[in-house]
Amino acid sequence: MLSYRHGFHAGNHADVLKHVVTMQLLSYLGQKETPYTYIDTHAGAGLYALDGAYASKNAEFETGISRLWERKDLPAPLAEYVNLIKALNPSGKMRYYPGSPYCAEKIMREEDRLRLFELHPSEGKILRENFRKLEAHAAAQGHRPAARGKRVMIHQGDGFVGLKALLPPPSRRGLILIDPPYEDKMDYRRVKDTLADALVRFSTGTYAVWYPLLQRMESRQFADKLKQLPAGGGWLNVTLSISGPAPDGFGLHSSGMFILNPPWTLEPMLRELMPYLVSALGRDADAGFTLESGTEPVLNTGTRRV
Ligand code: SAM
Repeated sequence: MLSYRHGFHAGNHADVLKHVVTMQLLSYLGQKETPYTYIDTHAGAGLYALDGAYASKNAEFETGISRLWERKDLPAPLAEYVNLIKALNPSGKMRYYPGSPYCAEKIMREEDRLRLFELHPSEGKILRENFRKLEAHAAAQGHRPAARGKRVMIHQGDGFVGLKALLPPPSRRGLILIDPPYEDKMDYRRVKDTLADALVRFSTGTYAVWYPLLQRMESRQFADKLKQLPAGGGWLNVTLSISGPAPDGFGLHSSGMFILNPPWTLEPMLRELMPYLVSALGRDADAGFTLESGTEPVLNTGTRRV
């Protein structure tokens, strides 16, 4: 299904959760000298103009990044994320919002590798153009263009399929972000099947899946299905709701990040961060978060709620 455009949703509460968690996962990988690979199976356009036709239509960024922009009391992980966006908007006015590939590129080192998949031809073209500009900027700053050429690879194609050929990554260290649109309910099934296959190829990788919390059955059961996957390093599931569901049932109010083989630092970090996010982004008394983790696959019991 190719009708989805992430520009309509750029910078909303779900992007905030996804991008903060992704940045923390990459920062953790960057603590060891050995290079790592970041694979984004559903990359989007990489960068979004908030005053453009898509983003300004429903101004979803007002449910997310706008609420953090002026805050002076941000906890460290959120400050890191907001500062990255401020650097992209040097005038101080929030005009551009970074997608996951851009957030990653800014955190990763010269020796790390980005592998990006985007199926939509127009989004893929914009992604390429955005990265071409980034590379030109980096070259102007004195970075080695040859090294950077191998550093980023953009594939126009199906990320569920393309991922297989990239696993395991050369250094056997990596983060895979899976962030499909879920407009087609088959996406839920494809995520789970892709993860099951990926864990066979690269059992120690860290896998992060963004998902919407909607009324449809596939969405409500999704996290429980992912908990069944055989990840030796366990799993973590964090969700953020900015309000209860709207009476008309429309709109996205809650979403989650499900991580397989999470670093041990993630859970304590989120335990501190999530109450702040709820108070900053919450819109009514139904706003809240859940955070749960497990060290083994779950069939029916054994989760630990924190
Ligand atoms: N990860 C991006 C970010 O956080 O900035 C947003 C990605 S958006 C939610 C999902 C993207 O996946 C869309 O741009 C869509 O065109 C693309 N897409 C849909 N199906 C795909 C597939 N099978 N393989 C790769 N990309 C796909």
